Amino acid sequence: MDFHFTPEENAFRDTVRAFIDEHLPAGSPPSPSEIETWNQALAEQGWIGFAWPKEAGGYGGGLIEQFILKEEMAACGAPPLGSDFMGLQWVGPAIIANGTEKQKARFLPDLLGGRSIWCTGYSEPDVGSDLASLQCRAECDGDTYVINGSKIWTTLAHMASWIFMMVRTGGDVSSPDPRAKYGGITCLLVPMDSAGIEIHPIPNLSGTVSFNQVFFNDVRVPIANRLGKEGQGWMVVLRALANERSGISEATEKVRHLQELIELARRSSKAGRPALEDPAVRRALARFQAKISAMRLNGMRALTKQLGGDVPSTETSVNKLVRADLEHEMWNFAMGLLGSEAQVLGELQSGSLGYHGTVIGGGTPNIQRNIISERILGLPKD
Ligand SMILES: Cc1cc2nc3c(=O)[nH]c(=O)nc-3n(C[C@H](O)[C@H](O)[C@H](O)COP(=O)(O)OP(=O)(O)OC[C@H]3O[C@@H](n4cnc5c(N)ncnc54)[C@H](O)[C@@H]3O)c2cc1C
Repeated sequence: MDFHFTPEENAFRDTVRAFIDEHLPAGSPPSPSEIETWNQALAEQGWIGFAWPKEAGGYGGGLIEQFILKEEMAACGAPPLGSDFMGLQWVGPAIIANGTEKQKARFLPDLLGGRSIWCTGYSEPDVGSDLASLQCRAECDGDTYVINGSKIWTTLAHMASWIFMMVRTGGDVSSPDPRAKYGGITCLLVPMDSAGIEIHPIPNLSGTVSFNQVFFNDVRVPIANRLGKEGQGWMVVLRALANERSGISEATEKVRHLQELIELARRSSKAGRPALEDPAVRRALARFQAKISAMRLNGMRALTKQLGGDVPSTETSVNKLVRADLEHEMWNFAMGLLGSEAQVLGELQSGSLGYHGTVIGGGTPNIQRNIISERILGLPKD
């Protein structure tokens, strides 16, 4: 494996830096209008949907260039690439891979143009890790499906215009043969303003709302909104989950977090001296840096596989697991530096209340351990 970048890739890095110098919002955090201007500049540059194929409206960029783009953006604390992270990270790629030409024409331009917001309906009140046991049902009635059931922990459902959801159209959850439940899952694309959808926000620890419980009472959606064939949703969800985990498992966000911690250590004091001068603090920061570097290299390993034509898969579980520990260690370290100030709700403090979500969302650490042990190490099944 060669970790060096080619002259063309380094030239692309310079282009990204020049773009950032010209367009990075001045505000910290940027105002909504600054974010809109930023997204507009990104769209004009063609960098929203950077690695999507050109025929899908994307930039047609390479995966290494996308890696460089994200790395540079994170290093300077830039806002995200586009306004709809779920749509861009996994719904759009799922539509590109499984959608009809009509579905691509209908959904992708809005997604790239920031005119739709997607949420994801997998988890249910009794179903999380064992996603294939999902119970929310869709029955066929003429040319529509009628959906009944409930989804929970649905991030951004209260703001979303569409839900990318998995429903049960067949199969037998109680069968001892696991294939019976996997085969009965179907993916539907449902407008969130459909009659019969009820959204109940769930406040999180810091008092804000990011996720919801969503109830479906006789919600009708045309069969034309099915993504892929009936009963083949499990293949759609596996790939979408790998794309979700590959986003969560990127090291870039932690690079920025580490910079914030270094700044915090500079501002805080320990025994009357700046905390940054304390050997234990310096050792902790160096340990974080080492783990982040390892994540970056593991990310490049996954990228190398993708360049060879593989889809992102189990290797993203390694970084998601490392990140789970790192989240825990880095946020506790930050609260330690803040001392008694940690009890007052500020930006850092609410971040520390929210990291548990990043650890659980997209699959818990135990589930990543199962994946690593079974599919990477070849150990017996759970
Ligand atoms: C911030 C956040 C955002 C989320 N956003 C969404 C969203 O947008 N859409 C959505 O559909 N879902 C979302 N989720 C839900 C998330 O995917 C689930 O919470 C997660 O998959 C775990 O499911 P569960 O909560 O039902 O826990 P369970 O599956 O009930 O797990 C409980 C505990 O048992 C352990 N466990 C379960 N099975 C095994 C096993 N086989 N081996 C070992 N240990 C096991 C787990 O590791 C965990 O510790 C979100 C969650 C969070 C925290």
